[in-house]
Amino acid sequence: MEIQKQSKQQQQEEFALASVTELASSSTSSSRSDSQSAPVIARFSAGNGVAVLRFNRDSESTDSISVDVKTAQLSKLGPLQSVCIAEASGADTGKEKYSTGVTVQFRNEEESRAFHCAFEQWKKKDIVQGTLLPNGAVTSFKSKFEDKIEPSSAKMYFHYYGQLLHQQNMMQDYVRTGTYYAAVMENRVDFIDRVVVDVGAGSGILSLFAAQAGAKHVYAVEASEMAEYARKLIAGNPSLGERITVIKGKVEEVELPEKADILISEPMGTLLVNERMLESYVIARDRFLVPNGKMFPAVGRIHMAPFSDEYLFVEIANKALFWQQHKYFGVDLTPLYGSAFGGYFSQPVVDAFDPRLLVAPTISHDLDFTEIKEEDLYEIEIPLKFVASVGTRVHGLACWFDVLFNGSAVQRWLTTAPGAPTTHWYQLRCVLSQPLYVMAGQEITGQLRMVAHNAQSYTIYLTLSAKMWGPGAEQGGILQTSSCKLDLKEPYYRMSQPQAYAMAQDQQPTPANTHTGYTHSCSR
Ligand code: SAH
Repeated sequence: MEIQKQSKQQQQEEFALASVTELASSSTSSSRSDSQSAPVIARFSAGNGVAVLRFNRDSESTDSISVDVKTAQLSKLGPLQSVCIAEASGADTGKEKYSTGVTVQFRNEEESRAFHCAFEQWKKKDIVQGTLLPNGAVTSFKSKFEDKIEPSSAKMYFHYYGQLLHQQNMMQDYVRTGTYYAAVMENRVDFIDRVVVDVGAGSGILSLFAAQAGAKHVYAVEASEMAEYARKLIAGNPSLGERITVIKGKVEEVELPEKADILISEPMGTLLVNERMLESYVIARDRFLVPNGKMFPAVGRIHMAPFSDEYLFVEIANKALFWQQHKYFGVDLTPLYGSAFGGYFSQPVVDAFDPRLLVAPTISHDLDFTEIKEEDLYEIEIPLKFVASVGTRVHGLACWFDVLFNGSAVQRWLTTAPGAPTTHWYQLRCVLSQPLYVMAGQEITGQLRMVAHNAQSYTIYLTLSAKMWGPGAEQGGILQTSSCKLDLKEPYYRMSQPQAYAMAQDQQPTPANTHTGYTHSCSR
């Protein structure tokens, strides 16, 4: 329905309508009916901080009706017909002001719905762009997303997701997509005749699954340009598409015409939390979900265990050896050795590892998406306590996650565990530059602290401690502690490196999907 791409950062948005008829008024009475072949264009535009809706017979025409969206009301008269009532503009000074009324006829229900959604968004827009207060001060409203995320990060992020190849990457993770499909289909009872919101719909694939499961209506909210492709895909599957409305915008900012019975989303990044999309999922819950509505998935579980991997440790340490050269084209590089060494150890390692590298039973930390507050995701602190199963050198902490589809019929977990079929999330390892020595049965304690930053990721602070006995150790032993600080945004994708262990055949990573920053999808 949206016949023109939104341009100049949504300064303008156009819709094609079947017809518009102006209700009788004191000044004009014109009828723009469908009897002529030219389509009627409704154009939302922003100027001077005010949103205007103009109805034209075509985009060139000067014969138009304009309304100030802020003061206008749009009401449904029927599935294909709505009426827009607006205050008269102040042009006729001196004369009495009358309201303007326009009856709008839509071509189909989908278009009616999208127009109503756009109307609600444009109503808010003039506030977003700053309104002039009577005293001359300008107030501006920023959405929760804009408040906490650096614009350059958001720009790159949504540019990335606007590309089909990255959506394909995620869709081709059959463990991921197949588990979502199974969870939805097995739990049709949760979807049949229900209103669904797909949070971050991407290609629209999960919306199409929900429609296949019998949803009454699905609102597919997607902030990137992918929304246009989702429209195309959905229009090409008309038996499902007639029950799906794509809404382009951030879940923090868009308005929906009704509440949802169930949310579906795939908001998981590396180590579950990367990309900070869980916060958007939770905001969508608070904005759109009915009380006690369902969330697919409902729970995220982070698993952690210490690991020993001499090969990985040496590989990382060796990367910095370059800076040990005293005569690099006659230049001594060693002043930067320490910084380079620290830099390599500040990158979490993303790859699929053999679970036999784990040296203690795992512990886990749950995030209940149905209950958690958005702010609780700004800083996540997990106390660590393990008992070593073997005597070894501990090189760091291995982490992965599962999510739970808590369906009314079937509960299903999507797991990214080592040893399970590999997903595009792989696993994540935080490597300590100072390994710890442990004996079998020895306790390893510490903390994993993740602090969100405005580039849609987290700074990770890891501390692991173990008691050490040996020559010179006092009664009770000496506590050895090792810490590291890592940036989850800058991982070391190690999948293209030769592996000492076999990986699932169909998930063999290629260098092509290992080079970019977002790991929510393969290269996400
Ligand atoms: N649901 C799709 C895509 C998942 S990737 C699938 O499962 O295949 C996550 C998608 O969410 C991306 O397309 C991204 O652009 C979108 N997204 C992330 N944050 C968003 C937000 N705050 N509002 C709307 N869309 C968002």
